[in-house]
Amino acid sequence: MKHIVYILVIVLTSSVAVLSCAGSRSVLRSETLPNADGTPGDQAKPAARPPVDPAESTEALPLMRAIIQRVKQNAPEINKYVFLDEQSNIMVKADLTMEGTDTVGTSEDFEVVYDLQHAAPLDKSRLQVGFAVTNKQTGDIRHDSLQWNLTDDAAGLLLAFDDNYQSAWERHFEVFEKYGARVTFFVQGDLDPFCAAALARGHDVGYHTIHHLNLTQVSREVFFEETLSAVDTFRQHGIPLLSFAYPYGLWEPWMDEELAKSFKIRRGYGVTFRVYDSAAIRHGYISSKAIDNLLYKQEAAFEAIITIMFRTIKFIGGESILPLTTHDISDTADWGIMPHRLEYVLQTARDLKLRFYRYGDFF
Ligand SMILES: [Zn+2]
Repeated sequence: MKHIVYILVIVLTSSVAVLSCAGSRSVLRSETLPNADGTPGDQAKPAARPPVDPAESTEALPLMRAIIQRVKQNAPEINKYVFLDEQSNIMVKADLTMEGTDTVGTSEDFEVVYDLQHAAPLDKSRLQVGFAVTNKQTGDIRHDSLQWNLTDDAAGLLLAFDDNYQSAWERHFEVFEKYGARVTFFVQGDLDPFCAAALARGHDVGYHTIHHLNLTQVSREVFFEETLSAVDTFRQHGIPLLSFAYPYGLWEPWMDEELAKSFKIRRGYGVTFRVYDSAAIRHGYISSKAIDNLLYKQEAAFEAIITIMFRTIKFIGGESILPLTTHDISDTADWGIMPHRLEYVLQTARDLKLRFYRYGDFF
């Protein structure tokens, strides 16, 4: 998988996932990494963290007090990073070093853990975020909180819908419009009128083969037929098809080399939270996180994962882009998203001032 470039590489343990796409049997893939019991590995559980006690910090040592002040100011130069704990909970941390003020030549290292899951909205553009600072030398831990101002920046979503659910997608054009959301539809088969309609609404269209076969199980001849035979017709009719999604996220390196000649981005699929910047996306291969109904049986689990993922990409700053994929838009489809969940995704993104990217936006 030499084309994979992540700005975050998250290495998890052992087993492969049972993760497939609409209408398929289960498919094994190393990039889909669940918990040991087979459940998806990244459903956020509320982190056990003590409530903020403002009184605590007043007793802190001078260095600790200075660190807390820096963290509260939330300056952009604090280098925050994403960390997945053993339960795959998404966390944001930062490491800070402070030169000693009382003893010349000493320095102490501190770790900051932010509690984004429980951040409390103060108004339309501010949240109160609790954090814990640990002095790594002494083990001293202090809790405090900061005010996080949401600003317009380049953080955003790369939201995609796969397979052949054109009628469901078209019924929700108004919903996308309501939230100013532009998305990418990865269609199968031959050109149909949906593609021009989607483009006219400001969306993008990518390709997802003719018959949705597992490409690792077919001959080279069938591979080329499935991936490229219909593409010219789309392009002759003004549908650029800049991107390609592998059915079930399954591919081999030679396939990616071949498809790179025709598609600017090839897209895989998994359950792991991954964040990219535009340079990593332009490199040509990305893996997109599934948010299908099947993966999140409980409403609270779905809302928790969306909240923590979206807050995380916004909070770590810079150009953090999160690829997400689902299929049908339906209350009953396993491989699809319930309409009210779709609105939750779009509303949460808008509240956090996240951008909506299309695959074609990077070229
Ligand atoms: Zn598919």
